Amino acid sequence: MLINNAPEHIRDEYVPGLLSGEKFIAVGISEPDVGSDVAAVKTRAVRDGNDWVLNGEKTWISNGEHMDLFVCTCKTGEGELTHIAIPAGTPGMEVRGIPKMALNSQSTSQIFLADVRVPIANTVGSIGDGLKNTLVTFERARCHMAAWGYSLGRRALEESIKYSQERTQHGKQIAGHQLIAEKIATMATQIDAARLLTLRAGDMIDKGIRCDVECSMAKWYGTEIGVNTTRQAVQIHGGNGVTKEFVVERLAREAIIGPIPDGTTEIQKLLIARMLTGVQAFR
Ligand SMILES: Cc1cc2nc3c(=O)[nH]c(=O)nc-3n(C[C@H](O)[C@H](O)[C@H](O)COP(=O)(O)OP(=O)(O)OC[C@H]3O[C@@H](n4cnc5c(N)ncnc54)[C@H](O)[C@@H]3O)c2cc1C
Repeated sequence: MLINNAPEHIRDEYVPGLLSGEKFIAVGISEPDVGSDVAAVKTRAVRDGNDWVLNGEKTWISNGEHMDLFVCTCKTGEGELTHIAIPAGTPGMEVRGIPKMALNSQSTSQIFLADVRVPIANTVGSIGDGLKNTLVTFERARCHMAAWGYSLGRRALEESIKYSQERTQHGKQIAGHQLIAEKIATMATQIDAARLLTLRAGDMIDKGIRCDVECSMAKWYGTEIGVNTTRQAVQIHGGNGVTKEFVVERLAREAIIGPIPDGTTEIQKLLIARMLTGVQAFR
């Protein structure tokens, strides 16, 4: 988003640190009343001379507590959304962490904006291009989420193969019980299918080809397969699977989050069907 759309002074100040992992960015679309319906954003930015003045509330914002820069999606006119960059520490911006069940290696936050003032020059992309640029960003984010989802499943599969070879019941390795063998085979096939969908989408992104349908397919399938396969891994581990001693417990908790951010599974399916049929799914 910054490389393609940000003004030079923002790119120069933040992109090198972001790429080297020394800086963090947060991107704010969601609000308490705005989730799947991205176009309904209420946070307002009003022009005052050479400045934007922002008021509103964002929620579920990844990296909020550690961010150096916040790119906020704001309403700048009727039906008009614009991305505005706010450096961390700008007066009027308050960040509060939201405790959650997993994925605690990153912060998820509420961000309150009360008369936050930044120069008009901090506009990312053109005024009014916020929705269009959000959709382009979603394409890449969905591909990334897909990889994250099936990768949790892949680790769960590796753990399950090992455990089913080591654990014996009824006089043999549980891997030799047909119902456990079926789980392993299904997990492996689903993870591979999710991976191939994601690699196709990633390849299209690399080649600069728009691939909303392919990314939506990869996102819903990859993250749902993450949930299914980590859940099966817990089952293969029996009682051990719900203890903190075995990693599958954490994998299952983390995987359950995947089908929510960057467009829920339900929204991905509506987008795929809308793109295939041309029939509006939302309004
Ligand atoms: C860990 C995490 C990190 C996140 N990071 C960010 C971030 O960095 N920046 C950001 O802006 N947001 C972020 N989000 C927010 C995320 O994008 C939203 O949670 C998501 O878009 C869903 O919105 P919602 O939670 O308001 O659910 P809602 O939109 O209220 O949906 C609730 C349920 O209704 C379903 N639903 C909604 N509309 C329809 C429909 N038309 N047809 C059928 N079903 C429907 C949904 O699929 C869901 O099952 C994050 C969320 C999480 C959990």
